[in-house]
Amino acid sequence: MKIEFIGTGNITAPENNACCLIDEHILVDCGNGIVKTLAQKGHVVNDIDTLIITHLHGDHFLDVPFLIMQRCFTGASGSLRIYCPDGTEEAVDEVMRIAYDDVDDFDEIKKGAGVDFIEIWDDVECEIEGGSLRFIEVEHGDCDDCYGFIIDINGRRAGFSGDSAYCSSIGKIVSQSDISVLDMSFTQGGRQHMGEDNILHLIDTYHKPVYATHMSTTSRKHAQTADNDLLTVTKDGQIIEV
Ligand SMILES: [Zn+2]
Ligand SMILES: [Zn+2]
Repeated sequence: MKIEFIGTGNITAPENNACCLIDEHILVDCGNGIVKTLAQKGHVVNDIDTLIITHLHGDHFLDVPFLIMQRCFTGASGSLRIYCPDGTEEAVDEVMRIAYDDVDDFDEIKKGAGVDFIEIWDDVECEIEGGSLRFIEVEHGDCDDCYGFIIDINGRRAGFSGDSAYCSSIGKIVSQSDISVLDMSFTQGGRQHMGEDNILHLIDTYHKPVYATHMSTTSRKHAQTADNDLLTVTKDGQIIEV
């Protein structure tokens, strides 16, 4: 499985919002700015047929209306399956209503884009082409319905934390995956996000490679001096093979 880091920053960082593209057709989160960034990097946006929305914070879903419009207005073929928490379609509709108050046929645009919203919950497993997704609910401050997941493609497994504090779900994700992509917003973890301290503890416990993402400038700079072979401080545009 090929994972490209489209964005590795948190909302305060100059990097793009945290987002990954897997095997050119599976997108993990779609925050503000991601659709144009994908095109600028030479990806065919209409080739994305699977979108995972980990939770309903703007840096993870605000570009979904633009992905839908792109597909509809450029005649994309096939469908776009969006695996997402309960309430995502309503939130996307609301963003569209605020952004384009004069557009009253968004239902037609969604239909034209071939969009299918599929609700996720804790421990649900979904079959996808060549493998599966298993969603695991994580803790992210007061945000309800926030998910990490493990993607299995041809027997190789990558774990994603989404936005998460250090909690038992993260141990599940890391222990059951070959590599993990984890939220490292801070140097020291808190109740909304993990820190470098949590990440190094997870590496110590499970001895598995971790790719840190969703970083602030401070957490990125600090982790670059960590000198741990199993920790990669990712950069926008970085590609890994799992
Ligand atoms: Zn969040
Ligand atoms: Zn976030």
